[in-house]
Amino acid sequence: MKETMKKILEFRDERGWKPYHTPENLAKSISIEAAELLECFQWNHEFDPIHVNEELADVLIYCLQMVDVLGVDAKQIIFEKLEKNAVKYPVQK
Ligand SMILES: [Mg+2]
Repeated sequence: MKETMKKILEFRDERGWKPYHTPENLAKSISIEAAELLECFQWNHEFDPIHVNEELADVLIYCLQMVDVLGVDAKQIIFEKLEKNAVKYPVQK
């Protein structure tokens, strides 16, 4: 994760994009890229796996940039949410 984050932030900083990466802009970008991912499945259930991977990567890249801008720990917030979800959706016995 650390190497991935370093690479993403280097890409952003080399292009001087950091000032534009506000939480609001990143949230919009995550939503736009999620729509592009959904578009891969528009009209039928067949899809191009390469295109899906590219759009999924776009979503993940923006999510990790938001993690950086908010100064939160991705692993920590994921684990906390999974704990909350486990309470909300208990395993059926
Ligand atoms: Mg895209």
